[in-house]
Amino acid sequence: MKKTYQIDENGYYGKFGGAYIPEILHRCVADLQAAYLTILGSEPFKTEYRRLLRDYAGRPSPLYHAVRLSAKTGCKVYLKREDLNHTGAHKINNTIGQILLARTMGKTRIIAETGAGQHGVATATVCALMDMPCVVYMGKTDVERQQPNVQRMQMLGATVVPITSGNMTLKDATNEAIRDWCCHPSDTFYIIGSTVGPHPYPDMVARLQSVISEEIKWQMLEKEGRDYPDYLIACVGGGSNAAGTIYHYVNDERVKIVLAEAGGKGVHSGMSAATIQLGREGIIHGARTLVMQNADGQIEEPYSISAGLDYPGIGPVHAYLAEEKRATVLAVDDDDALEAAFELTRLEGIIPALESAHALGALKKVRFAPSDVVVLTVSGRGDKDMDTYIKWKKEI
Ligand SMILES: *Cc1c(COP(=O)(O)O)cnc(C)c1O
Repeated sequence: MKKTYQIDENGYYGKFGGAYIPEILHRCVADLQAAYLTILGSEPFKTEYRRLLRDYAGRPSPLYHAVRLSAKTGCKVYLKREDLNHTGAHKINNTIGQILLARTMGKTRIIAETGAGQHGVATATVCALMDMPCVVYMGKTDVERQQPNVQRMQMLGATVVPITSGNMTLKDATNEAIRDWCCHPSDTFYIIGSTVGPHPYPDMVARLQSVISEEIKWQMLEKEGRDYPDYLIACVGGGSNAAGTIYHYVNDERVKIVLAEAGGKGVHSGMSAATIQLGREGIIHGARTLVMQNADGQIEEPYSISAGLDYPGIGPVHAYLAEEKRATVLAVDDDDALEAAFELTRLEGIIPALESAHALGALKKVRFAPSDVVVLTVSGRGDKDMDTYIKWKKEI
């Protein structure tokens, strides 16, 4: 039988995934497991989801042949422009889908957690659109360093709750969101922002982001006369833009997959977020996956200059693809990502998000043949990262 990298019927990719949740959430997660495929496949859902992706988010996103970047790289590079979506990144594809699902399941209240604030903004946006109350949990440290996104969420009508436990960052916000969900399992829908969390979230989010590779297929056919590239490249935090980019190609071995994780100040510097390289098997956020942890199994705080990539876990699908060597995982350090961001800006007039800049940094680490066709996903735009870019330029 041909190898498949899709999730199995128990919610696992190999040994990774599953649903490790408190008893009180069992019913709620089981309901979602039972309902999600039927709802996602139903005509009313598909019609409304497609309409909003097109008319509200601005899809399809262009597949752009980056001519000058290609010349510099030594092969043909296409950029999948998720930066052009409403709210500036791929995250809106997922939040539109999950809020429609929530509404279909009769839920009346939305919660989310956010680190950098990007998922919080994407969630607050769709809650405004659907007139649903929205509570976003965010570590106090993150609230302080991501003020513009906090203000956006508030303007959109969301309640932002600063969390003061632990290191006051993403994992603490996540714990708090899970606690809230435990208290309100019947009326509340928890919108998770990446391919993480208990089954069915990783698969559900991958499906909602799979519109990215669905579009790449017909766009490649239009531009290249074949519907697949030689390489797909994307950055991974939790792994949702990467999962969407590879979804329709993962079982097609002609297509090589390159995942860029955040090396921070260097994989072995003690300041890194390269979870696939540094992580050990463990449980985080309700799933078995690779986790950055100390000898006692306590979660280690990751570091990356990019707030969207410093998650101490990784989507179970990516842990599996790395283990099976279906994907090549490269750690891209802060400085390499920053350099790549400036290079793209000057070559193509596109300022990428710092997260996406890690994918661009990976482009320099692969030896391509001149005939290779590469599709690289620009997951978001760089407006939010201007302070970091300006500061770095001054320092060097
Ligand atoms: C959140 C974010 C990421 C990281 O999340 P994934 O789930 O790994 O895609 C990457 N790029 C941008 C622009 C983001 O906002």
